[in-house]
Amino acid sequence: MRVVLASGNAGKLRELNALLTGLDLQLVSQVELGIPAVEETGTTFEGNALLKARHAAGAARLPAIADDSGIEVDALNGAPGLYSARYAGPDADDAANNAKLLRALQDVPEAARTARYRCVLAFVRYADDPYPLLAQGSWEGRIIDSPRGSGGFGYDPYFWLPQRGCTAAELEAGEKDHLSHRGQAMRRLRAALERL
Ligand code: IMP
Repeated sequence: MRVVLASGNAGKLRELNALLTGLDLQLVSQVELGIPAVEETGTTFEGNALLKARHAAGAARLPAIADDSGIEVDALNGAPGLYSARYAGPDADDAANNAKLLRALQDVPEAARTARYRCVLAFVRYADDPYPLLAQGSWEGRIIDSPRGSGGFGYDPYFWLPQRGCTAAELEAGEKDHLSHRGQAMRRLRAALERL
């Protein structure tokens, strides 16, 4: 089965591709098919994941998988949350988003910097599929002030994992997949796909 991956984020695509190996799926990214990103107007991770999957499935005329994810920081009442990709503005890059996050946390002591990544994956067989598959994952950590590591993407160099004594950007790719919000969601989605 050919499936379109509804994302243009290179970091996510790399992880999703690795997490889908072994399934009888031929993956193609929506960017390769020239499908533009849809506006993320949802108010929940589920809503946005479904919106992206339905849009890609309709445009590609293929089944689609979409990821909506972000980081929730407790001291910021869950921000940046749904808006993690565009925290510092509509075209913000990782550096601008991270700089804004550190500024927002400058007076917050280390112990109060608890945070978690969240991920929801959606799979639809076609754009108006009335039986979408949804799967979620979350990953606890803490935000630190100085970046560490060069793996991963996004907020990873500042996402400290107390049990591991390193940041998400210091993990091997395979270790991140094993632990991460996206890895958890993908294993749940795979199990649901295998039951389809
Ligand atoms: P989305 O494309 O609207 O789902 O935006 C997700 C955003 O959340 C990304 O652009 C990153 O800023 C952040 N994010 C999600 N997952 C991760 C991760 O695994 N590492 C680092 N940042 C992440």
